[in-house]
Amino acid sequence: VRPFTYERAQSVEGAVEAAARPGARYIAGGTNLLDLMKADVERPTHLVDVGRLPLGEITETPEGGLRLGALTTNSQVAGDPRVRSRYPVLAQAILAGATQQLRNKATTGGNLLQRTRCPYFYDVSKPCNKREPGAGCAALGGLNQSAAILGATDACIATHPSDMAVALTALDARVEIFTTAGASVLPIGDLHRLPGDAPERDTDLPTAGLITGVVLPPPPPPERQIYRKARERASYAFALVSVAVAGDAVALGSVAHKPWRAARAEAARTAGASPADAMTAELETARGYGRNDFKIKLAARLGAAALEATKKESGE
Ligand SMILES: Cc1cc2nc3c(=O)[nH]c(=O)nc-3n(C[C@H](O)[C@H](O)[C@H](O)COP(=O)(O)OP(=O)(O)OC[C@H]3O[C@@H](n4cnc5c(N)ncnc54)[C@H](O)[C@@H]3O)c2cc1C
Ligand code: SF4
Repeated sequence: VRPFTYERAQSVEGAVEAAARPGARYIAGGTNLLDLMKADVERPTHLVDVGRLPLGEITETPEGGLRLGALTTNSQVAGDPRVRSRYPVLAQAILAGATQQLRNKATTGGNLLQRTRCPYFYDVSKPCNKREPGAGCAALGGLNQSAAILGATDACIATHPSDMAVALTALDARVEIFTTAGASVLPIGDLHRLPGDAPERDTDLPTAGLITGVVLPPPPPPERQIYRKARERASYAFALVSVAVAGDAVALGSVAHKPWRAARAEAARTAGASPADAMTAELETARGYGRNDFKIKLAARLGAAALEATKKESGE
């Protein structure tokens, strides 16, 4: 690990000011950032520890939803009785990820901003445009079974690995942000970005933007919510493909550089298409890169199964 300085933030305003310094980074649970620092992928010169800020509560909102403070842990959110009963898709997504020990440390804000698991991103001996803009993309002709099938460019075919973010996308969550210019709110669909020709940028978060919370709108009926995840082994593995259904909303995970809102499938369902036909419509523009070609069929089948399950359970 390269040398760095460290400070513990005492206030949201102080954290944002400290993080505006060149080379500074926030650290929350540290379960992703520290691994990346050890692998020499991330090289912050100053860490701003936000772990003790008062952002660890889950509260009711006046509109009938819930607000998750950015420092709520994944275990806390998945175990909260209000989340379990009103937002089962979110609890299921979180519990499908990582391990209990990791979920005890991992935070809501950090989970959203975790970086891709593309193997070449972690291997500093290989070219990677995300790590080093202009270097090339080793995944294009390499081990790309986990790569994107939607919205990718030849600059980067990496996927966003978070399970939680997929459920939050289907739930139309809003992300609260604080910067030196003050507070703002971003729909979750506008937080992460597609790679275009600048894959080094994962999100459209403003410089030194601190996520302070995530707001869940009032929930769709619980029986119309489900999270399904396909992975190489039954636990402790990132998704090959995942799907979240929340009411009429559908989102796919591990298929693109960002959690993928399946707008075509949603429109097709509204027009009366079957779950299978709706997913076929969604994946019309999908493209494989060799070893990940199987993900197109997998996404179609997993999505259709999830839609079937919520259809049956809601008595449709
Ligand atoms: C072995 C292993 C298996 C895993 N399996 C899964 C899985 O199956 N599914 C899954 O979804 N995840 C999985 N994870 C990832 C895990 O969920 C993330 O590492 C974790 O959620 C990150 O949260 P954190 O608080 O530790 O973030 P940190 O590591 O502290 O930070 C991550 C990033 O977010 C930034 N950041 C943190 N908090 C804020 C904030 N409030 N505002 C702005 N920026 C912030 C940091 O600067 C950093 O860039 C796995 C991780 C490991 C190590
Ligand atoms: S897919 Fe993206 S993260 Fe992976 S090697 Fe290519 S540029 Fe890097």
